[in-house]
Parts: sequence; C-alpha cells; structure tokens
Amino acid sequence: MSQPTLTVLAGPTAVGKGTVCQYIRENYPNVWFSVSATTRDPRPGEVDGTHYYFVSMEEFDQMIADGQMLEYAVVHGKNKYGTPRAKVQEALDAGRPVILEIDLQGARQIRETMPDARLIFLAPPSWDELVSRLVGRGTESEQEQARRLETAKVELAAEKEFDVTVVNDTVERAAKEIAELIGAA
Ligand code: 5GP
Repeated sequence: MSQPTLTVLAGPTAVGKGTVCQYIRENYPNVWFSVSATTRDPRPGEVDGTHYYFVSMEEFDQMIADGQMLEYAVVHGKNKYGTPRAKVQEALDAGRPVILEIDLQGARQIRETMPDARLIFLAPPSWDELVSRLVGRGTESEQEQARRLETAKVELAAEKEFDVTVVNDTVERAAKEIAELIGAA
C-alpha cells in the first residue's frame, strides 16, 4: 500500500464536495478530514468544531500571526478560511490519509509548502449542472449565488494545475475513485 499523504480536494463552488466527503466519511472511517477555521456565520445545522471552527476576524488573524495556519485564504472575496496546522500533522503522524477540502488559493499554497501533497480536482459533469446545483441548494441569496458563480468560473479554469480530475457524476462513484486514489479503499 502506498504511504498515506496529504490530499487536497478542491473544485468549483457547489460541485458537491461536501456530499462526496460525507460519503467518504461514512464509508472510509480511516480517512481524516481537516476541520477548517472560518470567519463566516454558521449555516443552519452546522456545528462548531465539526463542520468548521467558527471564529471572529480577530481570532483568525491571531491564528495566522501565531503560525497556526497551514494555509488560508479569503474566499468569495469575503470571509477568511484556513487549515489549522497542528491537527493535520497529528493525523499524518498517526499514518492516516488526510483530506483538506479547501479552495484553489489554498490548494496552491499547499503545493508550494508541501510538494508531496496530492491535488485532486472535483469537476462537475457540465457547467449547466453546476449552475443548477448551486441554485437548487437554495442556501445563498441571489447576490451570493452570482458571486459564487464568478468564483466558480475562475476555479474551473484551474483544473490543469491539479494532479488528477475526478468527475462528480454520481456521489458514490466519485467518492470511491477518490478513496482508491488516496489508498483508503
Ligand atoms: P462554504 O462557505 O461553502 O462552506 O465554503 C466556501 C469555500 O471555502 C469552499 O470552496 C471551500 O472549499 C473553501 N474552504 C473551506 N475551508 C477552507 C480552508 O481551510 N482553506 C481554504 N483555502 N479554503 C477553504
């Protein structure tokens, strides 16, 4: 079996990263998912410490100043998101495959700071499918949807920077492909 390493899973907004990751969580419990810190407000049902660490801008900036962030970025021109470093290292030391579910800017930072990391791009079957997934989710205002679609265009253009593309045609198939790629299957 290949040695467990760090895997970055990125892809455009609303491509279904969350759903694919949920499938992996349930079916491949050895995989360790990093919990990011964010300055955005929780959505209904989101739990602090499980989905994100919800922190203030001041707390976030302090974590950066203390060198606690493996990477961080301002996402959708608005809130800060970042990966707390210590827990990732602990999981890697324990020999577990680690997934960071982060944005493109974060993926680029990881490529620089951890050259052995594997970068997986989760792609939608088509642009139309991506738009309908974002609108269908119904969790963002129209203005926020428009902002996220702009981000998505830029993110889609970055596919070639990644080591491998996985198409999210069905959740189960995409999740299995990722699990095999990271040596968890
Ligand atoms: P959402 O607000 O929908 O949960 O996430 C918005 C975006 O932030 C997603 O594209 C997600 O991948 C990205 N994101 C979440 N956590 C992190 C992180 O720790 N670092 C970076 N760079 N992006 C993140």
